[in-house]
Amino acid sequence: MSDNITIALAGNPNSGKTTLFNAITGAHHKVGNYPGVTVEKREGIRIRGDKQYRFIDLPGIYSLTAYSVDEVVARDFILDEKPDIIVDVLDSTNLERNLYLCLQFQELGIPVIGALNMSDEAEAKGITIDDKNLSTTLGIPLVKTVGPRGIGIDALLDAIDASVITPSDAHSIHYGDEIESRLEVLQKLITVDTAFSARYPARWLAVKLLEKDANAYERLAEHSGAPRIGAAAREAVDWLDKHFGKDSEIIVTEQRYGYIRGAVRESIRIIKHTDFSLTEAVDKVIMNRFLSLPIFILVLWGVFQLTFLLGEYPMGWFEGFFGLLSNFFLRVLPEGLLRSLVVDGIIGGVGGVFSFVPLIVILFFLLSILEDVGYMSRAAFATDKLLHAFGLHGQSIFPMMLGFGCSVPAIMASRTLKSRRDRIITVLITPLMSCGAKLPVHVLLAAAFFPAHAASMVMVIYACGAVLSLLAALLLKHTVLKGDPTPFVMELPPYRAPTLQGVLWHVWEKTWHYVKKAGTIILASAILIWAITSFPAYELSAPEQAELTAAFTAENPGAGEEELEALLETAAAQAKLEHSYAGRLGHFIQPVFRPLGFDWKLAAASVTGFAAKEVVVSTLGILYRVGTEEDEESEGLRDAIAGDPNMRPLIALVFMLFTLIIPPCFAALATMKAEIGAKWMGFEIVFLIALGWVIGCVVYQTGNLLGF
Ligand code: GDP
Ligand code: MG
Repeated sequence: MSDNITIALAGNPNSGKTTLFNAITGAHHKVGNYPGVTVEKREGIRIRGDKQYRFIDLPGIYSLTAYSVDEVVARDFILDEKPDIIVDVLDSTNLERNLYLCLQFQELGIPVIGALNMSDEAEAKGITIDDKNLSTTLGIPLVKTVGPRGIGIDALLDAIDASVITPSDAHSIHYGDEIESRLEVLQKLITVDTAFSARYPARWLAVKLLEKDANAYERLAEHSGAPRIGAAAREAVDWLDKHFGKDSEIIVTEQRYGYIRGAVRESIRIIKHTDFSLTEAVDKVIMNRFLSLPIFILVLWGVFQLTFLLGEYPMGWFEGFFGLLSNFFLRVLPEGLLRSLVVDGIIGGVGGVFSFVPLIVILFFLLSILEDVGYMSRAAFATDKLLHAFGLHGQSIFPMMLGFGCSVPAIMASRTLKSRRDRIITVLITPLMSCGAKLPVHVLLAAAFFPAHAASMVMVIYACGAVLSLLAALLLKHTVLKGDPTPFVMELPPYRAPTLQGVLWHVWEKTWHYVKKAGTIILASAILIWAITSFPAYELSAPEQAELTAAFTAENPGAGEEELEALLETAAAQAKLEHSYAGRLGHFIQPVFRPLGFDWKLAAASVTGFAAKEVVVSTLGILYRVGTEEDEESEGLRDAIAGDPNMRPLIALVFMLFTLIIPPCFAALATMKAEIGAKWMGFEIVFLIALGWVIGCVVYQTGNLLGF
């Protein structure tokens, strides 16, 4: 008997697995990835007495017939890594539905323990569960738990200990004589290959074959008598189809639900409670056919208003902090390369990123509350019809909204979509939702060129992004990703008071992806950009200086010594930059951007924007201010850009649109590659560059013709 037990925590989404996992393992866990996909794998150790329990928090699933990535990951983990015990975390308020998965676990031949989680909520709703009776009916141990309060954890560990000694005798469900007789034939054939049936329980596989599970047929290929079994299974399927007049998989499903209904009727009593009717009453308004969409838009608008309102303060603090930091280094470091690297490169770059982290955190905080309360599922319903028109799905709405914060968690959130096609479209259009990193670009240019309507201008850009994402979905649906969204039953969970812990956990999970990227890719990009704008070093020669001084004196007859000095310094900085690698690059590619009205500075800033949108503003900062002793506040930059004779409002608008549309940062592209493959990532890059260029070109040329 090993004293090191591996336990898989499995169950439906939102049944409380992660909460229970955290409560059991406390701080002793590590987060990694499942091989090949970016689904997070959380593993934790709990030590009690001389036993070590290794817990794995599996992604939430509804069935072992896998369609989504999460389901594949969970299924493969259980089948291939064979945990010692499966703890199925069940939502006690919704047992009928949750037990469906439990039945499938029981067929796997791995001991199953049911955690009757959310038992507090069930009680509050007047649902009484006779756990002893239900446990006998199902043949598995059941333990009542309340994850957030850590109730039932010791009892759960006791049940695990007991299961290790005497594995539970799970009652296999009886599928009815017709099905059972076919199962028996298949099971006999399967058990012939002993090595194979040691890996896959014969009964489980036989049922899966009747369910026409594609993956089961793939795994069957490892069997020495695979062709014969495959033929027998197909024959059985045909017979059942004919005999019952419906698909064999539907018959299997019906049998399972029938079994559950019976088991539940014996053990569960529901006293209708006000909570239910409250949810129903609220839904009458929120889910009203005519009101649901306007309410959603109102909620979205409120989230934005609140985000910007609350975000202003911490953003100011961050900016102040980084201002102090750069002043400090300006004082302690001697003038030269090192000081320039630290102040302009590192602090400028990273400071630019961190000053809007608060915005992202607040946005994610508000969205997490909406998610935990149960509103996001309603939002999916509310937007489903509209999104269908564009070839999308109501479930795409959450990833899209996260996209306003950061594309990385948004792309990952698309995992809940069932069909690969729906997922790919959602991932491809998410970057068009203007992310937090693009905001400083919009704010800077809107303030510089549309000072009277800056806030509305920024909102217009956000709206453009949302509309473009829908149009892009429509385009994809009619070209490379033909087809209609797969129908899928969406759940409407009851409204729930969110717990602070749960919300903070969700916020942290999503923000962490962003901070990781800021600390690595963006810091590297900032240093790279500093380097290509600083080298090769260039100085104005003495005759050039004299010439410029003479020109400035002629232009500004009344100017004092100091004013002339400042003008000369700016000119020197400009010259230095024009001769740097960045300047040369900007000049080199500028012809491509000429139809969009960009000069070499905007061209160079766009190029850095491909790496990370965060550095567009700091690049512009360097491009406009290198070497001058203006202070770090953005007002200086705003005036410098507004005063540039090559710039005007139309070009600023085109530049904002171009920044909005071009491919997302490297971090987002890497996530995309992991989620939907290199081919689609490559497609996205070409697609968005082309889209950005064409739209920029159309807007600029039209604006020009109209005389803007
Ligand atoms: P997962 O998707 O299965 O990992 O579910 P989570 O652990 O993220 O929990 C989903 C939500 O249910 C969170 O808001 C939790 O705070 C809440 N929750 C989890 N367990 C319980 C419980 O036992 N009782 C109550 N009332 N809420 C719970
Ligand atoms: Mg979870």
